[in-house]
Amino acid sequence: PTAPTVLTMNGHFGAVGDNPTKESFEHGIQVIDEDKVFNPALPSYLQLEQVTRSGFNYHLISVFGSQSTGKSTLLNTLFGTQFGVMSEQERRQTTKGIWMSKNKREHIETAPGQKMAENILVMDVEGTDGRERGEDQDFERKSALFALATSEVLIVNIWEHQVGLYQGANMGLLKTVFEVNLQLFLKDAKSVPRSLLFFVIRDHLGTTPLDNLKNTLLQDLSRIWSSLSKPPGLEKSKIDDYFDFAFVALPHKILQPEKFQAEVQKLGLRFREGFKDPKRAGLVDESTEAILLPEYHRRIPADGFPMYAQGIWEQIDSNKDLDLPTQQELLAQFRCDEIAKEVLVAFDAIVTPLEEQQATAVAAGTPTILASLGQAIAGARKAVLADFETEASRYHKGVFKAKQGELASKVDGRLKALYQGQLSAAHKSGVHEFSEAVTLAVKAGQKKGGSYDFYKIVSTEKQKSLEKFEKEAKSSRIEGTPWSDYTQQLNLYRKELDEVSTRLRKDEMRRLATRSERWVRSRLGELVGLEFNKLGSGRGGSGAPAEGEKPATEKDLWDRIWGVFTETVSHAETRFTDRARSFDASPDEVEVGLWRLRRKSWGALRDKIDEEVMEGNLMLKLRENFEDKFRYDEEGVPRIWRPTDDIEGLYTKARESTLELIPLLSRFRMISTSAPPPLDAWIGAPPQNITAADEEDLNPIGGVDEEEGKTLEEEMTVLGDAKRQDLATRFKKTADGVYVEAKRSAIGGVAQ
Ligand code: GDP
Ligand code: MG
Repeated sequence: PTAPTVLTMNGHFGAVGDNPTKESFEHGIQVIDEDKVFNPALPSYLQLEQVTRSGFNYHLISVFGSQSTGKSTLLNTLFGTQFGVMSEQERRQTTKGIWMSKNKREHIETAPGQKMAENILVMDVEGTDGRERGEDQDFERKSALFALATSEVLIVNIWEHQVGLYQGANMGLLKTVFEVNLQLFLKDAKSVPRSLLFFVIRDHLGTTPLDNLKNTLLQDLSRIWSSLSKPPGLEKSKIDDYFDFAFVALPHKILQPEKFQAEVQKLGLRFREGFKDPKRAGLVDESTEAILLPEYHRRIPADGFPMYAQGIWEQIDSNKDLDLPTQQELLAQFRCDEIAKEVLVAFDAIVTPLEEQQATAVAAGTPTILASLGQAIAGARKAVLADFETEASRYHKGVFKAKQGELASKVDGRLKALYQGQLSAAHKSGVHEFSEAVTLAVKAGQKKGGSYDFYKIVSTEKQKSLEKFEKEAKSSRIEGTPWSDYTQQLNLYRKELDEVSTRLRKDEMRRLATRSERWVRSRLGELVGLEFNKLGSGRGGSGAPAEGEKPATEKDLWDRIWGVFTETVSHAETRFTDRARSFDASPDEVEVGLWRLRRKSWGALRDKIDEEVMEGNLMLKLRENFEDKFRYDEEGVPRIWRPTDDIEGLYTKARESTLELIPLLSRFRMISTSAPPPLDAWIGAPPQNITAADEEDLNPIGGVDEEEGKTLEEEMTVLGDAKRQDLATRFKKTADGVYVEAKRSAIGGVAQ
C-alpha cells in the first residue's frame, strides 16, 4: 500500500493521502510493507494518534512468534487494536511486514485505580513459518534487528506444546535476536538498553505449572546463548547482561474464552510504568508486576521516532552494520535544527519587527529608542531557549549542547545588534538633548539678567544625561548575556558629553569675552573721554585736583590714558579669569581669552582715541584750551581786556602753548619714557595652544604682529603729518579770530 516517498517530519506523507483520517489507519499503520519499504506516513500516524508531542512518554512493544499462533488476536484483545487476524476458515498468513498501532485501551482501568501506560505503540511483526523458511529468514533477521533497536518489550508468543522443542522455529528466532543484540552491543554498549523478553505461552492447559515451563525455557535460552559465537571481548558475557525475562501463560482462546479474556485483562494491567525491584535480579515473575521499566526505554523522543526508525530500517535493509550511536547523532542533528527553526518562529515574531523598526529609523537618519525593548527581548530570549531545551534536550546530549550553543549565539548575535542599536540611539538623542538643555538653561539665565552658573548647568545636565543613558542601557539589556555589558558605551557616551561640554564652554567663553570687551569699550569711552576733556582747560583740568592726585598736565596725557587703559583692562582680566575659572575653563583657554581681550581692548582704545581726534572734536578742544589760557588769568578769573594789557604777548604765549599740543596729540608717547607704551610686551606673545578660530576676527596691530609690516611707531601715530599741518593752520585762524575779538573788546572797554 505504500510508495517510497521522501520522508519529512512535518506530517507529509505519500501513500495515504494528504488528509489522514482515523479510517485510513483503521488497522494501524504498516510501518514496513512486504517489499520491505518503510512507510513515510508514520509521522502522520503518530500525529493523528497524538503521540508526536509526548517526548519520552511513550512505549514501544513488539510481538514475535511463528505464524498463526494468535499473535494478532492477542494484541487486539490486549490493546483493543484491529490488526488483521486470520479467519478461522481460510488459515493463511495475514500479517505482512510490520504493523504498528496505538493502544486503544489506555483510558480503561485494568484494575481499580490502575490504567495502562500512556502512548503504548504496539508492533505486530510478520511471523515466520517453519514450512516457508529460506527467503523469510532474511526478513526475520531484519525485523528482529529493527524490533530490538526500537522496542522496550519483545513479546515472544509460543504454544505451550512448543516449549522444550529446542529445535523449533521460535528458538531460531531467539538465536537471531541474541546474535543481533550482541552485534549492536559491540558498537556502543551505552546506546543499547536492556530489553524485556516477555514469553506469552498460549493454550496453557494447566497441567504443567508455569514455573516448570519457565525453567525449561530459561534452560533452552542458556543453551542457545552458550552456542552463540560471541564477538571478542564479550565471550564471557551472560544472557542476563542484556535481557530481563518475564513469563505468562494464557488459556485456550477458543476452548476457554472467558478464562482467556480474564487472563488477558490481567496481563494488560502489567503494561504500566514501574521500577525494578533490586531483589528481583533480572527475573520478572510476579504475575502483576509492572513491566515498562525506565531502563528499557530507547530514549528516542516521540517526534524523532519516525525518522530514527526509518534511518535504522534503511541501514538494516541495505545490510549495513547497524550503528545506533551514529543514527542517534544524525537524528539529533536533524531534529535539533528543526526544533531550532520551530522555536525561532515565535522569537522572530517579536524580534524581527523590532529589527526592522530600528533599521528603518537608522536608514532615515533618525535613530530611535525602542520602547520597552529589554522586556520584549528578555521574554523572547527566555522563551526561545526554554522551548528549545524542552524539545531538543531529549536528543543526543552532545549534539543538543552544540546546537543549543549555536542557537544561543544566533539569538544573542541578533539581540546584541539590537541592543547596540538601542545604545547608539540613546547616545545620539542623549547628546542632542544634553546640548539643547544646556543652551536653554543659559538662555534662561541670560534672560533673568545674565547671572547664571554655567558650570553648575553643565554638570547638572551631564549628570542627568548620564543617568538617563545608564537607565536606558540597563533596562534594555538582559543580564547574564554575553552582550549585556555597556561599560564601554557608557564611557564613550561620557567622553562625547565631555566633548560637547568643551564645545559649549568655548561658546560660553566667547560670550564672556564679548561681554568683557563691551565693558572695556564702554569704560574706556568714559574714562578716556574724561582725559581728553581735560585738554579743554589750559591748566590741565578745571578746578583743583582731588586730594592725593597729581595735578594733571597736558604733557602726561598719554601716560594717564595708558594708565587708565591698563587699569581698566586689568580689571576686566581679573573678572574674566574668575568667571572662566568658575565654569572650569582650562588655563589654556583662559590664557587665550585674556590675550584676545587685551588685543580687542587695544582696538577699543584706538577707536576711542580716533573718535576724540576727529577734526571737529579736536578743533573744539584746541580752541577751548587756547581760550582758557588766553582769556583766563592764573586764578581762573576771566580777563577784562584793557588797552594797556599786553594782549599780543598773552595771545602769542597762549597760541604757542596750544600749538604744542598738536605734536603731543599726534603720537601716543609716554612722557615718562619718551617712547610709545610697551604695547607689544603688554599684549604678550600669542599663547601656545591658539587655534585659527581664535585669531580669525582679530585686527592686526602694528609692532605686535610683526608680519604686518607695520611698526609700533606707526601703530602709535594718532595724527598724520598732513592732518597736523592742516589742524595747525586752522587753529591759528581760529586763535586769530579770538585775538581780534579781544583787541576790539579792549578798545570798546576804554570807550566805555
Ligand atoms: P498470528 O498469525 O500469530 O497473528 O495469528 P492470528 O491472530 O491471525 O490467529 C491465527 C488463528 O489462531 C486464528 O484463526 C485465530 O482464531 C486462532 N487463535 C487465536 N487465538 C488463539 C488461541 O489462544 N488458541 C488457539 N488455539 N487458537 C487461537
Ligand atoms: Mg498476525
